[in-house]
Amino acid sequence: MDYRGALKDKKRIVIKIGSSSLTHEETGNLNLEKMERLVRILTDLRNRGKEVVLVSSGAIAVGRKTLGLKEKPKELSEKQACAAIGQASLMTVYQKLFSEYHQLTAQILLTKYIMINDISRQNARNTFERLNEMGVIPIVNENDTISTDEIKELGLGENDTLSAIVAGLIHADLLILLSDIDGLYTDDPRKNKDAEFIDLVPELSEEYLNMGKGAGTSFGTGGMKTKLSAARIATESGADMIITNGNDVDNIRAVLNGEPVGTLVLAHKVPHFHLKNYITGKEE
Ligand code: GLU
Repeated sequence: MDYRGALKDKKRIVIKIGSSSLTHEETGNLNLEKMERLVRILTDLRNRGKEVVLVSSGAIAVGRKTLGLKEKPKELSEKQACAAIGQASLMTVYQKLFSEYHQLTAQILLTKYIMINDISRQNARNTFERLNEMGVIPIVNENDTISTDEIKELGLGENDTLSAIVAGLIHADLLILLSDIDGLYTDDPRKNKDAEFIDLVPELSEEYLNMGKGAGTSFGTGGMKTKLSAARIATESGADMIITNGNDVDNIRAVLNGEPVGTLVLAHKVPHFHLKNYITGKEE
């Protein structure tokens, strides 16, 4: 079976980009050139007839820069204030760039509570559905201002998990995580030179899930553990998932051309998948 080749036919795609992929490493400022390329690639995917949702971090990072803070904010309320400032600025940049191609965008801010509540979850799903029919690309982030639990400990606090939840919510068939690593390795490649790259995960067996629990697995923004738990939500909801390096946003195009970039985790839809149970941890 040509799993890579099959990615060409994916129709509903969620793409997650993290703050480190959106900003210049040296200064923390937005990398506008990269954002421009990202926007062009996403618009072109829509032009090819794909349905696209972007999950973008960066609110806290942009807010910090806007305020001119030298240090990363540590206190929760400071992070939230930065997010409130930065989210608006971030959307302004996205909207400016997308408008060059006459591509409409929308902002969707989610929290864990929205996803747990049956009515709110259905409302969110309906909105995504409608936006897609209107040809709009939704840009999603966590509503950091009010989601204190998430930032501290519970699930959604990072956008790897959020993007998997969005994939499950809208019944996406592909989730692409643009990360600061090339994909999954058998161990931390920065510490262990014998760590091997994993090209394909046919099924998220115990062996893979345990990899995320071992030592030296905190690499990647959200860490391997969160990537594996995001993979579990996405693949069990019925989406294939790719983890690839966000340094080169062209990797999105490569993935959809069936080229061997990143780690591909194959979908394994469970019967009666129920998103709420994954968020509350009741599916165990
Ligand atoms: N929601 C946070 C932000 O936009 C980022 C969370 C994450 O990077 O995973 O700044």
